[in-house]
Amino acid sequence: MSIKKVLHYGEPSLREPSKEVHKVSKKITELIRDLFDTMYAQNGVGLAAPQIGVNLRVFVIDASTNEEPLEPMVFINPKIIKKSGAVKSNEGCLSFPDAYTDVVRYENIMVKAINENGKPFVMEVKGGNLLARAIQHENDHLDGILFIDHCLNRFETQEVLKKYNLPDLDPDMLIDEEEMKSQL
Ligand code: ZN
Repeated sequence: MSIKKVLHYGEPSLREPSKEVHKVSKKITELIRDLFDTMYAQNGVGLAAPQIGVNLRVFVIDASTNEEPLEPMVFINPKIIKKSGAVKSNEGCLSFPDAYTDVVRYENIMVKAINENGKPFVMEVKGGNLLARAIQHENDHLDGILFIDHCLNRFETQEVLKKYNLPDLDPDMLIDEEEMKSQL
């Protein structure tokens, strides 16, 4: 068991794009275990490798709720291959302690990835539930994109960051999602 330090917003590697995994080696298996250990230790729903300083395309999710128990999931080299609809989502991130803000996410997605055994899989998630939103959130981390880049209100988000002593919003990173926002 190995609980790693979670990098906080402001650490440059959170903005770096991550590299593809070529083989689910022992090193990757250890990385997956560290991600789960670290995520559970902090009561997170998901954690991506760059958040513990490893810029590889791997993330883990446990989107279980009291109403809906789910298996813990591993995504290696994920790609979102279909997306539609829009939902408002109040999100936080282990790299932004205590800071939550409203963002816009796709309602329905189809993702393909490789699992912890090196097997490819395709998963479709509909209805904008926690799992659908978590996959989008974690997948973004692999491209150096952070949830605040999707914020619905930049001024409110900036206030939240300031309140929790986090660095300012980066206006150059904001994603133009007017079309999605108009569907909310
Ligand atoms: Zn995050």
